[in-house]
Amino acid sequence: MNSIKQSGWKPEMGGVGESVPATYTGNKALMLEEALIFEIGTTETTGVDLADAPQVATRLGNLERHSDIGLPGLSEPETVRHYTRLSRQNYAIDLGFFPLGSCTMKHNPRLNEKVARMAGFADVHPLQPVETVQGALAVINELAVWLIQLTGMYGVAMTPKAGAHGELCGILCIKAALEARGDPRSVILVPESAHGTNPATAAFAGFLVENIPATSEGRVDLAVLKARLGPDVAGVMITNPNTCGLFERDMRAISDAVHAAGGYVYCDGANFNAIVGRVRPGDLGIDAMHINLHKTFSTPHGGGGPGSGPVVLSQALSPYGPLPFTERHADGNYTLVEEETAGERHPRSFGRMTAFHGQMGMFTRALAYIMSHGANGLRQVAEDAVLNANYILRSLEDVLEAPFAHSGPCMHEALFNDNGLAEGFSTLDIAKGLIDEGYHPMTVYFPLVVHGAMLIEPTETESKATLDQFIGALGRVAERAKAGDPSLKSAPHHAPRRRLDETQAARKPVLVWREPEQAVAAE
Ligand SMILES: *Cc1c(COP(=O)(O)O)cnc(C)c1O
Repeated sequence: MNSIKQSGWKPEMGGVGESVPATYTGNKALMLEEALIFEIGTTETTGVDLADAPQVATRLGNLERHSDIGLPGLSEPETVRHYTRLSRQNYAIDLGFFPLGSCTMKHNPRLNEKVARMAGFADVHPLQPVETVQGALAVINELAVWLIQLTGMYGVAMTPKAGAHGELCGILCIKAALEARGDPRSVILVPESAHGTNPATAAFAGFLVENIPATSEGRVDLAVLKARLGPDVAGVMITNPNTCGLFERDMRAISDAVHAAGGYVYCDGANFNAIVGRVRPGDLGIDAMHINLHKTFSTPHGGGGPGSGPVVLSQALSPYGPLPFTERHADGNYTLVEEETAGERHPRSFGRMTAFHGQMGMFTRALAYIMSHGANGLRQVAEDAVLNANYILRSLEDVLEAPFAHSGPCMHEALFNDNGLAEGFSTLDIAKGLIDEGYHPMTVYFPLVVHGAMLIEPTETESKATLDQFIGALGRVAERAKAGDPSLKSAPHHAPRRRLDETQAARKPVLVWREPEQAVAAE
């Protein structure tokens, strides 16, 4: 039994009955199998004709390489097909509903793409003379003004490149502010429902992290938090709306208490899409908050794709924000402030987050999104996102247990747990079963405070028909898990790969491809 080399199918994958022709591909209709590039390419092949170029050797002096680098070669069409086939095995927001909680996988309007591809934005280089990029700087500045107005804050650091990077920026501002007043506080308080990046950020910046428990309602326990405040507490990091999909109603009281104790308030604003246009974090006493442009303002993300995490800052923290930043002058021209200048507006910057100005492609997309919605449209975004999430919560609460349904309406995401499933069945089985129904699973086992958590964020861009179909599919899979349907334990059945051993994958990851003979020898 053999498979032709182009295919990723291997006999142990089965699924084709008794006799398999030597050229069996493993393809299922137009769903194509694909092998690793190391399996299909050979070091003797190349897709490019490189003329012998003696000047190359001259240019490199005696540094040119003499041995083979062992990379697999393919012809151009083979290369194109390889990557296109792999790309077709991805799930994408452009293919279907993507219910990942906390990740805000909303539709990305094509208008944003059109704007971002305009040569004046797409082709600028960060080292161009400032007078040749006035338009780009105007975009950064215009977006900065929108973010300040939408959040009711005093300043904004535009350079951080993702949410977690923004968290680091905000915490470094807090650290710089404490240093400036000679107050070396060491502890950051983080609620136990926090996104994992929050404690990681605080620890990375050199703080000790202490957890604050949640109430039975799923919100920060204000009494416990107040009791813990003291001269060693640098600040708190609170996600609002939180990762249970609930608004922290005590936010103003939390801020006041933290400020009275000499600390700062960091808000994880990744869920800003639930409140944009409705709540201004500045009114809640927040000192620093990152905004995930790629979530709230709809830019393609995921799979490590580009992000952008500007941080809005209070008046107290703004002086410590990072360089560079744009400055608009009375004559309408923009400059970039690249260095600290004593006595100027930005005298005590903690330094830089990035080499240049941040994510230009994200800035243009986010500004296109904001301007095409306008202030009223953005408020509608938040309202519809919350409406959709509550529709899911109420439609499924009879099938799955919703641990905080008694706390009132949810914000932009609906949270369920695994109570009531048959013995031996878990959230993982429901997630795998959903794949067979054609859905990317929701976020599972997060937040950690809820057993077997399933967190569903529909976003405002899904229609009622889409939500109804998803509710039907998830409801059916959940009923199977409650009835103990054994076929669910081995789902997915229809995906290109069956259920993987996730424990082995985490504990004994195989990160390097080896020729099969070598792999056997290495074991
Ligand atoms: C997505 C998210 C983050 C991290 O943002 P990245 O852009 O992925 O770094 C932090 N906190 C919350 C609540 C999030 O949802």
